[in-house]
Amino acid sequence: MEATTTDLDTFRQQTRTWLEANCPPEMRRPVLSEDDICWGGRHFQFQSEAQRTWMRRMAERGWTVPAWPRAYGGGGLSKDEVKVLKAEMRALGCRSPLDSFGIWMLGPALLKFGSEAQKVEHLTKIARGEIRWCQGYSEPGAGSDLASLQTRAEVHDEHFVVNGQKIWTSYADKSDWIFCLVRTDFGAKKHTGISFILFDMASQGVSTRPILLISGKSPFCETFFDDVKVPRANLVGELNAGWTIAKYLLTHEREMIGGMLDSRAVKTLGAFAADAVGVDDKGRMLDCGLRSRIAKFEIDDLAFRSLLERTGDRARVGQGDPAFSSALKYYGAELNKRRNELLVSAAGSDGLEWESTRSREGALARSWLRSKGNSIEGGTSEVQLNIVAKRILGLPGN
Ligand SMILES: Cc1cc2nc3c(=O)[nH]c(=O)nc-3n(C[C@H](O)[C@H](O)[C@H](O)COP(=O)(O)OP(=O)(O)OC[C@H]3O[C@@H](n4cnc5c(N)ncnc54)[C@H](O)[C@@H]3O)c2cc1C
Repeated sequence: MEATTTDLDTFRQQTRTWLEANCPPEMRRPVLSEDDICWGGRHFQFQSEAQRTWMRRMAERGWTVPAWPRAYGGGGLSKDEVKVLKAEMRALGCRSPLDSFGIWMLGPALLKFGSEAQKVEHLTKIARGEIRWCQGYSEPGAGSDLASLQTRAEVHDEHFVVNGQKIWTSYADKSDWIFCLVRTDFGAKKHTGISFILFDMASQGVSTRPILLISGKSPFCETFFDDVKVPRANLVGELNAGWTIAKYLLTHEREMIGGMLDSRAVKTLGAFAADAVGVDDKGRMLDCGLRSRIAKFEIDDLAFRSLLERTGDRARVGQGDPAFSSALKYYGAELNKRRNELLVSAAGSDGLEWESTRSREGALARSWLRSKGNSIEGGTSEVQLNIVAKRILGLPGN
């Protein structure tokens, strides 16, 4: 049942009061780099006591995953209540208490395709930040053409035996479990022989090798499987029917990438640039060229946010189009790259400072380099444009 306006007003008031009382001041400051993000998991090192407290308090209310059912650790909130919660968090500058591939990608897929036992087992641990997940999709010979994947899982009585290699597995070396695409029918057409399985990264035969990037970090790994035994119960959905789950999960990944790329930055670009280059006596940014580029960006960003909202509303009334996640992913990635260019431009030579750990300038250069991957991860921009051309615009293709 939809909440009435009065219900929502009461909810808004209660939410604001609770957030004011429970969100530690340190958790109301902007996230400056990936290091400030709370990923959860068995081995996660909290940056501060405030970060641990904030995650725990939000998890106790189910508000790390406010829309998920209470039975699986969620908040059981309606879509309207989730909107209110997000708006109130934004208004107070609250950081996200927990970010994870479990929340963004695996959770929605398990809610739709998982067995009851899998939901109870995995969703609650995701919601509480106990288990960190990584995504085992890409392989050296299967990126855009993902269905060509060659990692094999042979079916034995009570388990699979997995052999093969994944690549670009983000945070594989820091994750506890992996959701993984494997080939289980070796004679079938490529899309129909794939299964979707889950397993513990601590299983015997799993190893990872970090890949060092231009930004100086190693956010992802090569991941190797050597006779890894995976219980049959860890198969999600039907055997050889994993492609449907894989595609469903990808639409969530793409929406997530498109929708949240710059949402971590609480301070607006305009405010940051005005601080960096100075303002005239009317409060206008001194560099008028930069001012006009930023104004254009802010307008496009606002339009994109409205589009995100409209897309969400359409999905709620059953008029969503999964292909639209490609349009959002494409444009969200472009906007985030522009945003990073503008931040570096505004900061001038300070924006290229590399070693600074005390200021956001150190983080800016790295974040600018990191943003280059936005148009590759989750499916490249070219591939998203192909999907938009064929499935949304109905243009002919091969
Ligand atoms: C930051 C980052 C994080 C990632 N994290 C993960 C992860 O956690 N797990 C995971 O499994 N993968 C991950 N990936 C991998 C990512 O999904 C792949 O890199 C992506 O799908 C592209 O595959 P590829 O690298 O093999 O490039 P290719 O598929 O080889 O593409 C090479 C080039 O050819 C173009 N191209 C390919 N096919 C077409 C076509 N049909 N039409 C037009 N152009 C085409 C592409 O656009 C690209 O420019 C990550 C990547 C990045 C950058």
